[in-house]
Amino acid sequence: MNVVIPTEDKQMQQIIEKVRHGQRLSLEDGVFLYQSDDLLTIGQLANEVALRKNGKKVYFIENMSLYFTNVCEAHCAFCNFRKDEGEEGSYTLSGQQMIEYVEKHFHPGVREFHIVGGHNPHVPFQYYVDSLKALKERFPEVTLKAYTAAEIDFFSRISGLSYKEVLQELMKAGLQSLTGGGAEILSDHYRKKMRVDKADVSQYLQVHRTAHELGLRTHTTMLYGSIESKEDRIRHLMQLRELQDETNGFLVFIPLSMQPINPRAGIRRRNSAFEDLKTIAISRLMLDNFQHIKAYFINIGVQLTQVALTMGASDAHGTIVKEKISHAAGALTPEGITREDLIWLIKGAGRIPVERDTFYNEIKVYE
Ligand code: SF4
Repeated sequence: MNVVIPTEDKQMQQIIEKVRHGQRLSLEDGVFLYQSDDLLTIGQLANEVALRKNGKKVYFIENMSLYFTNVCEAHCAFCNFRKDEGEEGSYTLSGQQMIEYVEKHFHPGVREFHIVGGHNPHVPFQYYVDSLKALKERFPEVTLKAYTAAEIDFFSRISGLSYKEVLQELMKAGLQSLTGGGAEILSDHYRKKMRVDKADVSQYLQVHRTAHELGLRTHTTMLYGSIESKEDRIRHLMQLRELQDETNGFLVFIPLSMQPINPRAGIRRRNSAFEDLKTIAISRLMLDNFQHIKAYFINIGVQLTQVALTMGASDAHGTIVKEKISHAAGALTPEGITREDLIWLIKGAGRIPVERDTFYNEIKVYE
């Protein structure tokens, strides 16, 4: 379905032609789109691609975010979630304590646990294995989407096991998918400046590659809106696109808008709505081999998420219940959302809400 795009800009017209003919966009195209103020054209073009790939369907899931520990050996400049061992507010939950927490907040619609946390070096790798095992035994029906690629790299360092062996151990305990965090910006220069003292660019990609080889489908992200250049962002997308060409193991790409609270990161302002929408639309256009782009309401707000559904996003994430990481960093959004509100939000954008499982199998279509 083509929409009318009345632009006279030659370079924009060439990009429109490329997209309509299914040709891949280049680094120069991506940077040009970021430099352009023509959000409506970019958004409409991304909308065309989203409609081509998913029709009017927009997906969501009933899930719960869980955080076993906030103790972390790393000191990423943008992070306000981490604590040192023994610091006020630090915690490390046992499997049993986590089960008690889940039982208090759980309701029968929840079909996914989204599990991430700090890189806590005061507990052994077995702790992270047992945590999954305990949850899987108590809630066998719920999919365990757990740990970032950076956590897998950390587990490999503390256990002496290879990525493959770490993942196999976790899969035996119930792991079914990896979360997308830890990518930040896939640039060595950025990682040095932002003190991302965890998995580097090639390690992040290698963990996902290994997971895909083992048959796991995984998630991936980009944390944008601080010191990186527009070119850094496009290069980030292109590295993910390349790995997706190789493995086809990514389920979805999630642009994460940087939250502004931590002064160590030198971030004074939230991203503008314009920037957030442009990033979602450009992600849709660059990542031609990804089925879904997610609008993450926790970081960009519920209202903007709704608009993003008409500019390239085909996933509105999930109910979450109680988000902690972005809220520690200054998110002003609700910590969770109800299924009814998600359906309202999607329908309000003229789209068809589809409740899904982790792997985008359709559970229920709300026509
Ligand atoms: S972003 Fe993750 S790895 Fe970095 S300091 Fe925070 S919890 Fe630790």
